[in-house]
Amino acid sequence: MVFDLRIIAREEIKDIPVYSAGLDIEDVKRKYGVERVIKLASNENPLGPSPLAVEAVRSALSDISLYPDGNCTELRRKLAGMLGVQLENLVFGNGTDEIIDFIFYAFFDPGDRAVMGDPTFSSYYLSGMTMGAEMVYVRLLDHQHEVEQMLKTVDRRTKGLFVGTPHNPTGTICSREELEMALDSLPPDVLLVWDEAYREYVEDPSYPESVPYLQRHPNLIVLRTFSKIYGLAGLRIGYGIADPGVVDLLERVRPPFNVNRLAQVAALAALDDAQHVENSRRVNSEGKRYLTDELLKLGMRPVSTQANFILFSYKDMIDGLPERLLEKGVIVRDGAQLGYPGYIRLTIGTPEQNSEVVSVIRDLIG
Ligand SMILES: *Cc1c(COP(=O)(O)O)cnc(C)c1O
Repeated sequence: MVFDLRIIAREEIKDIPVYSAGLDIEDVKRKYGVERVIKLASNENPLGPSPLAVEAVRSALSDISLYPDGNCTELRRKLAGMLGVQLENLVFGNGTDEIIDFIFYAFFDPGDRAVMGDPTFSSYYLSGMTMGAEMVYVRLLDHQHEVEQMLKTVDRRTKGLFVGTPHNPTGTICSREELEMALDSLPPDVLLVWDEAYREYVEDPSYPESVPYLQRHPNLIVLRTFSKIYGLAGLRIGYGIADPGVVDLLERVRPPFNVNRLAQVAALAALDDAQHVENSRRVNSEGKRYLTDELLKLGMRPVSTQANFILFSYKDMIDGLPERLLEKGVIVRDGAQLGYPGYIRLTIGTPEQNSEVVSVIRDLIG
């Protein structure tokens, strides 16, 4: 008889769905027999990484037999200088996803509550589930966080609020007033996790500069990443900016060598390439305008976005659009997997990719 090892697994983890990232480029080529595949599904930078980052990685390759610097010393120094914070204000992760894990490991006992939007970024609740946290979902209104409603749910068992701004999957932001309302009304023992993974793409002037609020609000944790505008998603590196006391707690659950050597040198070099960031921002901004206009002309309903992706409703126009796009070699994120059935989350690509997607959709609609 074979013993069922599920019996000894922790109850909390048994309901966690195994994350599905969707098909990759090779899968689609094989399955649909298409030669050219466009992947606009994971909000990656369509211009790729900075050439400076590529060169830095190349130069560091012969050192990969050595463990990385567990403290990210050089990167820490550089970022602290750029952000105007102390070295002790920063914590680095194997992607920002890992920092979300650290927050749950360090602060959440089973049954503690985490408040978040609905729909929201899956890492918040997947991480929460590993610790047996209880998720409190507050429905988005008009695709935006209802910060006031979220604050109203806070009770003695609440340990944190998780807010993406720009939010994933909608691309909407929270205003300065909402940030201030949250910080002013939250009890000091409730964390505000303010996830700015897409901040570099924001064009709306009402978007607040969050870091200065750390001075008076040690319960604020700001999250940022090198995966999006810096084009380093494959290397896995992100960081948190928080009060030194909070960083100290997160450091206790951080594995010693969590950020690899190549990620550290690439991130350092990427920070030096302001031109690449600027180009990425411009291509995104132009692509956003183009795609928004074209999708509207096609009868789709795009949500106004501040990020590098556009969420749009296709359900009145055509059935099963995500699958039909796959057959034509265009990979998008099906909203059905993101809490938005009848929608697609489309990453903004290069001008060529954008016009190709538009013409494929136009053909499908007929
Ligand atoms: C992409 C993304 C991140 C960053 O993830 P990494 O683990 O750094 O790649 C964080 N938050 C949101 C909402 C995201 O969409």
